[in-house]
This record gives sequence, structure tokens and C-alpha cells, in this order.
Amino acid sequence: MGLIEKGKIEGILSGYKKLCIATVCSHSALQIFRGARQEKVHTIGICTKDRLEFYKSFPHAAPDEFLVVDSLADVPVDELVARDAVAVPHGSFVEYVGERLDGMAVPVFGNRRSLQFERDRMKMFSWMEKAGLRVPKTMKPEEIDRMAIVKFPGAKGGHGYMIVKSEKEYWEKIGKRKALIQEFIVGVRAYPHYFHSAFSGAGFRTSYGHVELMGVDRRVESNAEEIARAVAAGGNVPLSFTVMGNASMVLRESLLPEFMEMGRNVSDTSKELFGGMHGPFCVETIVTEDLDIYAFEISARIVAGTNILYHPYAEFTHGEHVSTGRRIAMELKEAFKKKKMNEIVY
Ligand code: ATP
Repeated sequence: MGLIEKGKIEGILSGYKKLCIATVCSHSALQIFRGARQEKVHTIGICTKDRLEFYKSFPHAAPDEFLVVDSLADVPVDELVARDAVAVPHGSFVEYVGERLDGMAVPVFGNRRSLQFERDRMKMFSWMEKAGLRVPKTMKPEEIDRMAIVKFPGAKGGHGYMIVKSEKEYWEKIGKRKALIQEFIVGVRAYPHYFHSAFSGAGFRTSYGHVELMGVDRRVESNAEEIARAVAAGGNVPLSFTVMGNASMVLRESLLPEFMEMGRNVSDTSKELFGGMHGPFCVETIVTEDLDIYAFEISARIVAGTNILYHPYAEFTHGEHVSTGRRIAMELKEAFKKKKMNEIVY
């Protein structure tokens, strides 16, 4: 399905009398609902029957209203539009709905074109290159001359990735399967959470607004995080990278300007490539012992690491703690008030 015309979404928005925030009950939904509640914005949870009990069990983070669906891939577009809802995409939302999100006739917070770039590895690489990010080297099997990570298409949260050290090992382990081979960077992973705002004056200036640093996390992966215990116990287990959760981190303050500059460059190039990103995004990085920052992916939407609700950088910007979920509601409220929803919703 092709991309729905922007004019159609603007037509839908022109009929909206109020603001309502909807998302799929998964990933960072509790945070999105909680943040909207703090801003007194009505919320809708798109939920399957089996998840209702869980999402109802948090009185301060449950949505005001549920739309029950058979599958989380079935976004009830007409019901959402009838309720003046703006859909907030998150990792699972994007994953479940896939390319159908392009044509979905409901206003989506941000720019749905950014999600096309997130989905397509080649587009993503060209974006990262244009933004001047230092990226791990991509290799062909015959070029493997160092430790490399092998990524399969459609992998979810690093599941199934493998490590190889030579061409011979590659053919033995991977064979003819379609995969991306990337230099394995040794260092500390850091996932900065940014928020691009059309209206705020805080943060670093971009060509179409400002980029704020909200927080930083580190993904907790099985078994990479715990492998030292297995090795110490004499085990010989292959490294794996399946995401289990996230842990908060703060960066050396001297590294922060470079991270802010990265956020700005990614925003500015997104404007040139596809009209800009709005709202939350993340650059997945690894910082080496020489303090070189490598970037291996951009997430053009809220990431799960923001579920850790206290991050000092958001407080430094807003004077009190503001979660990314709440920041989304704040931005939408302001756009609605200023009648500028078309600028940050597509
Ligand atoms: P998601 O879409 O959930 O972000 P994914 O399936 O696209 O995940 P990546 O984020 O690319 O996978 O990678 C998963 C994990 O693999 C990373 O969190 C990191 O631990 C490790 N990893 C990825 N690329 C590299 C690299 N070049 N060097 C070292 N480790 C890497």
C-alpha cells in the first residue's frame, strides 16, 4: 500500500474538535497513557482481550477507553477518527502494522515517512551517512577480517544475531541466508532519547525547531549481559543479543555535546531527506574506549528505554521530570491550541 496523501490526513484533522491520543497496548503504551493523563488528554488503548486485565491493572496508566481488537495488527481506523484520535507509533505498533502504516487513514503523530526510512536498511544507512555519523563497517563475506556481527532481516530486538570471525566461519554458520555483516564494535552501548519539537525553544536549534535530550538508556540483552558468569563457570556459550529490558544510564558530561550534535544532524538531514521528524527518536550507539561514538541504527519513534521514567536530562530541560510519553502529549496539546497539528502530525 502506498503512502496516504498528506492532504487526506489534513482533511481528517480539520474535522477534529478535540484532542485524543491512541496507541496499541504494548511496548511503551503505559508511559504514553500516563503522560497524556498528566496533561489531561483523553486516551484510547487498542488492545486484545488477553491483555485487558494487565492494562486495566494500573489505575494511573490505563487508557481512558479501550478499543478491543482480535489482533494488534488491526488498527480500528474509523473508530479512531470518529473519536478525534491521533495515533502514537511505538516499536511494537510499527512492527505489527508494518507497511500498512503508510496508507493508514488516521492521523499519526510525527511524520510517517520517517518510519519508511526506519524500516529499510539501505535508506537508514544513507540517512546515517548524510548525518555524518560514524558507522560500523559493512562487509561482504570475503571481506571479513575481524570480529563481525551478522544481522538477519526482520530480526526483532537483536534475536538470532550471530558473531563470526572469518569468511570460512561465515559460510559454515550462515551459508546462503540473506544477512547484513557488520564490524563488531567493542565498547559501551548508549541509546540517547531525543525529542524534536516544532515549538520549544530549549535544546539545540535545528533547521525546523529544536532537539531536546530526554534521557539515555542501555539495553539489557540476553545473554550478552550475563555471559561473564557463564564463561567464569567454564561454559562455552555463543554470545546473543535478545533484548530483555532497559537500564538507565547517564553519560560523561563531556560526551553530551557530541551526542546533542548528533541529534541535531539526524534531525536536519531528516528534513532534507523526507520533510523532517517530529517527536521522539533515538540513535543506537556504541562508545569505544577512545570515546569514539559509533551509530548503528536510528529509531524514528519512541523507544522502550524511555519507559524508565526518571532521566535527569528531561528535568534539566523542563525544570521537573517529564517522560517522553508526557512530552508527546505536551507537544500535541500545543499544536492543537496553535492550530498547527498539520506541522507535526502525518
Ligand atoms: P531493534 O530494531 O529492536 O533496535 P534490531 O533487531 O534492529 O533491534 P540492532 O539494534 O541492530 O537489532 O542490534 C541488536 C543488538 O546487537 C544491539 O543492541 C547491540 O547489543 C548489538 N549490536 C548491533 N550492532 C552491533 C555492532 N556493530 N557491534 C556490536 N554490537 C552490535
